[in-house]
Amino acid sequence: MNPVAAETVVGRYAPSPTGPLHLGNIRTALLCWLQARLAGGRVLLRLDDLDRPRNQPGSTEQILGDLTWLGLHWDGDVIVQTTREQHYQAAFSLLKKAGAIFPCRCSRRDIASALSTPNPPGTETPYPGTCRPENNPAPIEPGEPVAWRYRVSDTKLAWRDGILGRQCDHLARHPGDFIVRRKDGIIAYQLASVVDDALTGVTDVLRGADLVDSTARQIALFRSLGYSAPRFWHVPLMTDDSGEKLSKRHGDTSVKAFMEAGYLPEAMFNFMCLLGWSMGDREVFSKQEAIAAFDLDQVSRNTAIFDTTKLEWLNGEYIRAMPTADFIGRVRPLLG
Ligand code: GLU
Repeated sequence: MNPVAAETVVGRYAPSPTGPLHLGNIRTALLCWLQARLAGGRVLLRLDDLDRPRNQPGSTEQILGDLTWLGLHWDGDVIVQTTREQHYQAAFSLLKKAGAIFPCRCSRRDIASALSTPNPPGTETPYPGTCRPENNPAPIEPGEPVAWRYRVSDTKLAWRDGILGRQCDHLARHPGDFIVRRKDGIIAYQLASVVDDALTGVTDVLRGADLVDSTARQIALFRSLGYSAPRFWHVPLMTDDSGEKLSKRHGDTSVKAFMEAGYLPEAMFNFMCLLGWSMGDREVFSKQEAIAAFDLDQVSRNTAIFDTTKLEWLNGEYIRAMPTADFIGRVRPLLG
């Protein structure tokens, strides 16, 4: 059984409006939604839109439309990060006052050249501590653009992921002191996300496994700001049938593409539930049946593979079971 107590679950789904949601994103949204619903809890929707240049026009509307189409309704108003800057600034000031952060003028190139050994492939360059106050960096000139870094402690940080199990990170080795405010003044994702999760009462952060690496940083920030950290659940990512990770570049796996191709939201919902999970040998079930039977503990820890044939079969099942009048009503708009 999912060990989460009923009345205590506040989940959140936090997409960035940087493009259309693909099936991998929507599967994460679905798992987040199911986790909250099956516990009788709430699920919040937050738009991580602080990095304005990366936001795509129309993306927010598209995301809200996709979630609504699939029946993944959220509770309360949408939380929009660009309207919440005062909360991030307050947290930033608190960290500054506590001496938990320091200004840093280093560029990526400075950091790379300060290291005597090259980075292991696929890892971020660890920060070498150049601008830590104890290393006596040259004073910051008035108006000089600086980033602000969180000073990590040189100890291991152990935490438990609801899906991946026990995790242990050593922030001083990876990634080292990390950025909480960028040189352009934008509050970094790590800090903004922690502030929002804390202030909106999130108890369970369920998100894609690509963010597992951020969790130790976020736990450190929760602690420094005096909050207790939520529970974390990192769900395996999805690949297409050739094994390639789905990304926003896969236009053909966007929810919109399926909607426009005539797939039914009920079939899509059912199909998404079956990715890495099964309800015994039943393959066709309603949303209510899914909520009653779903168990996060049984979701496969392996990458979920998007199998088009299965989706087509399921869609056919739903279409054949549909009353004729309903069928005509749904087909008409697709014929233009
Ligand atoms: N905004 C992030 C993304 O779209 C997710 C952040 C989170 O869930 O913590 O990948």
